[in-house]
Amino acid sequence: MEKSILVIGACGQLGTALTKRLVERYGLSAVWPTDIRQAENYPFPVHTVNALNREELQEFVAEKNITEIYHLAAVLSANGEKRPIESWHINMGSLLNVLEVARTSAVEKVFFPSSIAVFNDSNQKDRTPEDSYLTPGTVYGLSKAAGENWAKYYFEKYGLDVRSIRYPGIIGYDALPGGGTTDYAVDIYHKAVKGENFDCFLEKDTALPMLFMDDATKAAIMLMEAPAENIKVRTSYNIGGFSLRPIDFYEELKKDFPNFEITYSADYRQQIANQWPNSLDDSTAKKDWGWEAEFDLAAMSKIMIEKLTAYYNHEVLNA
Ligand code: NAD
Repeated sequence: MEKSILVIGACGQLGTALTKRLVERYGLSAVWPTDIRQAENYPFPVHTVNALNREELQEFVAEKNITEIYHLAAVLSANGEKRPIESWHINMGSLLNVLEVARTSAVEKVFFPSSIAVFNDSNQKDRTPEDSYLTPGTVYGLSKAAGENWAKYYFEKYGLDVRSIRYPGIIGYDALPGGGTTDYAVDIYHKAVKGENFDCFLEKDTALPMLFMDDATKAAIMLMEAPAENIKVRTSYNIGGFSLRPIDFYEELKKDFPNFEITYSADYRQQIANQWPNSLDDSTAKKDWGWEAEFDLAAMSKIMIEKLTAYYNHEVLNA
């Protein structure tokens, strides 16, 4: 069957970059970006589909002969803590709709991103193992841990090919982050490039696993293209990039922006960050489907600075 890919939550931080990469790889006619909102200057037409409305989703999947779904819609960690019950409803309701619609249609594969938020401070902090005992401390983490198990359930009970990655904090330039605990790592680049100082909501030594967007989108496509027999983990794969602290970004940015200054005003997000690992053991993803991160801090920073400089120069020119 010809590939027809539905991206749910396509206007978000990951969705914007992933949709571009899917279009580059498979062509625009094979990719259907959908969301409940429209984003400014989005490069493709976006169809309005609410993943919480199962009939609407079912109709879209049937009409476009969808064969693969990338289900990205979710309320993220920091925003989730403001409205726990509503966030649970959105994260779980949309996932269960996607799984049910996929099971009862021609959909062959589903991608579901999980997160480092499934871990807690009771887990090993460095190179946290994939099969750790999960007792997440946020509603977002609870929904991801439950979601991973639903993915496994649909695979084992119905043979639905659901694949999942536990993403670290993702850093990219295409779209602004959507209310997570690692958002500072994107904001800091915007501030430095605009010539402003940065007030960080985490303490300077808080190490968290991070990943450049190009590696995040590459990982999703690699996992989805891997032969089914290679996929041994049906909950979710750990993938690691690098472990970074706010001070590491600051020191890297100082090289290009000597006047750049940072202050630290830890808020409620510090408690969330304290629960999460410093780094992940991603040896299973490497073994099963050849995962390898390409970008380190220096390589990522070079691209972030180039892209954001071009973006803000253009904005000034057109003001
Ligand atoms: P985001 O908040 O930037 O984007 C989510 C998108 O989903 C938004 O555009 C929103 O409008 C849309 N959406 C919300 N409710 C919807 C609904 N009912 N139907 C359709 N669309 C809806 O999030 P993101 O950072 O792009 O994250 C995408 C996925 O990756 C999420 O599942 C998130 O948990 C996961 N993830 C992200 C990160 C990260 O650092 N960005 C890290 C780990 C995991």
